[in-house]
Amino acid sequence: MPPMSVKQTDPSQSQFIHFLRWIMEFRRTPVKAMENALRFRRLLRFISMGSFMILLPSVLLAYFGISSIHGEELAMVEDVQIQAEGASSAFIERYERSFTSFETRVLNRLEAGHSPLERPTELHPHMLVALKLSSDLTVKNPFYRPSVPGVEPINYLFDADAQRANAAERRGEDAGVVARLYGRAARASSDSKTRARLLFDRARMLTKARRYAEAADQLKEVNKKYGQMRDPWGFRMIDLTRLHEAESMLERDRLKGAESLRRLVVDLMASSWAVGEGGEAAVARRALSRLEPFTDAEWVAGTRERIDAQTRMLYWAQELLPELDKVLMGRRNMIVGRGEVRWIEGERGLWALTWWDDELYAFALDRSAIIANARKLAIDGTPSSSPVKSQLLEPGTDSPDEVLSRRSLVPWLIGWQMVVLPRDAVALAEDLRQRRSRRIAIIVLAVVMMGVGAMVTARMVRNELGNARMKADFAANVSHELRSPITQIRLKAESLMLGLSETEDERQHDYRAIVRESERLSRLVDNVLDFSAIERGAKTYQLNPGDFTDTVHAAIESIESSFELKDRELILDIDSFLPLIAHDMDAIAQCVINLVSNAAKYSDADRPIRVTLERLGDGVQLCVIDQGIGIPSADLRQIFEPFFRGGDAAVRRRKGTGIGLAITFYIVQAHMGTVDVVSTPGKGSTFSLWFPGLADNHRDQ
Ligand code: ADP
Repeated sequence: MPPMSVKQTDPSQSQFIHFLRWIMEFRRTPVKAMENALRFRRLLRFISMGSFMILLPSVLLAYFGISSIHGEELAMVEDVQIQAEGASSAFIERYERSFTSFETRVLNRLEAGHSPLERPTELHPHMLVALKLSSDLTVKNPFYRPSVPGVEPINYLFDADAQRANAAERRGEDAGVVARLYGRAARASSDSKTRARLLFDRARMLTKARRYAEAADQLKEVNKKYGQMRDPWGFRMIDLTRLHEAESMLERDRLKGAESLRRLVVDLMASSWAVGEGGEAAVARRALSRLEPFTDAEWVAGTRERIDAQTRMLYWAQELLPELDKVLMGRRNMIVGRGEVRWIEGERGLWALTWWDDELYAFALDRSAIIANARKLAIDGTPSSSPVKSQLLEPGTDSPDEVLSRRSLVPWLIGWQMVVLPRDAVALAEDLRQRRSRRIAIIVLAVVMMGVGAMVTARMVRNELGNARMKADFAANVSHELRSPITQIRLKAESLMLGLSETEDERQHDYRAIVRESERLSRLVDNVLDFSAIERGAKTYQLNPGDFTDTVHAAIESIESSFELKDRELILDIDSFLPLIAHDMDAIAQCVINLVSNAAKYSDADRPIRVTLERLGDGVQLCVIDQGIGIPSADLRQIFEPFFRGGDAAVRRRKGTGIGLAITFYIVQAHMGTVDVVSTPGKGSTFSLWFPGLADNHRDQ
C-alpha cells in the first residue's frame, strides 16, 4: 500500500476524489430514474432512427405520389380538353365542307355549261328552292309568277255562258247539247285563257257523245292555238288534251291508253325541273292514279314521291319570293360576281346566288335542314364512347358553365354556337376520385410495407447485435472461467512450494485442489475446443456399441469430486438391462458432465440432483433432474443456441460460457437422439436426452 504522503501529493488524487464522489452520486441516483432516462434515450434514438428510415422516405414517397396523382389528374383534364378541341375542329371542318361542296357542285355544273336547275334535287340536301331569274329579275323557271294571283279563275266563274254550260254538264244533260253550249260560250268569251278552256271542254263533251272525229278536230285546234297556254287554273292546255286523249283511249284499248298515260307522266316529269305551277303536278297525279292498276307499284310510288318533292319546292318558292325580292333589291350586281357563289342571310332563310349567262340563279337553303345536319355532325363527331359531347346553342340561349370549346356557326347559322362539354361531369369527377383513392391506397400500402421492412430490419439488426454481445460476453466469460482455476492452482502450488502448508493433510488438500482445478480447467478447455471444432465442422465422433451405464458412471465419477459437486446429494437411478447404444463415450460423458454441472450450478447446494437412465421405446433415455432456479419459458427456445445465457440475475451471478448446452445438443444430434427440457421457474428443470438403441444387440437377448 503506498504511503499517505505519496497519496496526498499524487496529482491524480483530486481525480480519484472526483471519481468517488461521482460513484456516491451515482449510487444515490434512484434506479428508476436511471432506467427511465435510459429508456428515454432509447426512445429518442428509436424515434430519430425511425424518422430517418421510415418517416423521411414515407414523406418523400407520399409527396411524389401525391404530386404524380395531381399531375395525372391535370393530364386527364388536359386530355379531355384536347379531345374537346379535336371534336370542335373536326365538326367545323365537316360543317364548312357541306357548304363548300354545295358551291363546288353549283360552280362545276355552271362551268360544264349546264343549268344548275336541271337536276336541282340532286344539288344539295339542304336546298329548299332553286330559281332561275332573268336579268330583269322576273322568275323564268320553274314557274311563272302570277301577276295578279287568283284573277283568272274568277273571270271564268263570272262568264255567264261558261257557267251555263258547266251547270248543264253537272246536271248530266246530253253530252252533245253540253258540247254545243261550251262551243257557244267559247265563241262569246273575250279572255283567251277562258276560251281555250271552254274549247277543250267542248272536245271533252264530243268524246263523251262518241263524236270522236269532231272531238279530235277540236283537240287539234286547241293544241295548235293554245297548246302552251294555261287555263284559268294554271293547267297547260297541251297537258290537258294529252290526258284526255289517253283516258279515252284507255276505254277502247287498255294497252295503248296505259302507254299514253305513262308517256305523259314521264314527259311531265322531264319537261322542266318542277312539275309546273301546280297544273302539271295535278295532271301527273291524275294520270298516275289512272295508270296505277296496270303498272309497276314501285314506279308509281317513286314517281309520286318525286312529284311531292317538286311541288313542295314550288310551294316554298311561292313563300320565299317576297323574301328574294328583299334580298335582291337594287343590289344584284354588287352582291354577287359572275361565276361565284355568294351566301346571303335573309329574314326567312339563307340564299345562295350566282350569275351565269345573264341569268341569276337563286337557291334558298332550308335552315331547319342545316340545323339538323349540324346537329347530326355534332353528335357523330362525339360518339358516346368519347368523354365529351357536342351541343348546338340557339341564338340567345344561356351557355352551360362547363363549356370546353366553342365555335360560331357563321355565316350559315348566324348567332348559333356549337359547344363541347364533358359528357358526364359527374362521372368524370367520380373517375378522378376513384383513381385518386386507388393511388393513395397504393402509397399507403407502400409506406406500410416500408414500415414493416424497417421493423424487420431493426429486428434483424437487434438480433445481430445480441449475437455480437453474446460473443463478446462469451470471450469475457471464458477468460473469467479460466482465471479462477488458474489462480487456485497457482495459489496452492505456491503454498506447497513455499512450504506454507505445514501438515501432510494440508498438503494433500492442496494437491487435491490442484488436481480438481486442473480438471475443471481441462473441462472448460475441452468444451471450448470442442465447440470451435463443431463450429468449423471438424468435429467427428467414434460411435462404438456400448453400455450407456458405464459411460454415465464414468462421467459422474470424473466430476463427483469436483468443486460443484462437493457435498451434493447425487441420486443415480439406472435401469438394468438397457439396450446397447452406438456412441462416442467421451462425447456422451461430456453431455452428462455438462448437464450435471449445470444442475449443480443452477440449484442450491442443499438440493439433490437426480440422474436417471431408463429404457424408452427402442432406446435409452438419460434424464438430469434438478430442483434449481428453473428456466423462464421465454428462454427455453434459446438455451441450446451457442453463447446464449439466461437473462435472469440468478443466472448472471453464476459463471458460465453459454456453450455447454449447444455442444450437448450437437452431440445428441450426432447420435440421432433427441433433447427435451421441462422446466418450471423456481421449481427446477429436467433435461431428457434420448438415444436410439441397437435393436439386435440388446443385453437381454
Ligand atoms: P452456461 O455456461 O451459461 O451454463 P449452458 O449452455 O450450459 O451455458 O446453458 C445455457 C443457459 O441455459 C444457461 O445460461 C441457463 O440460463 C440455462 N440453464 C441450463 N441448464 C439449466 C438448469 N439446470 N437450470 C436452470 N437454467 C439452466
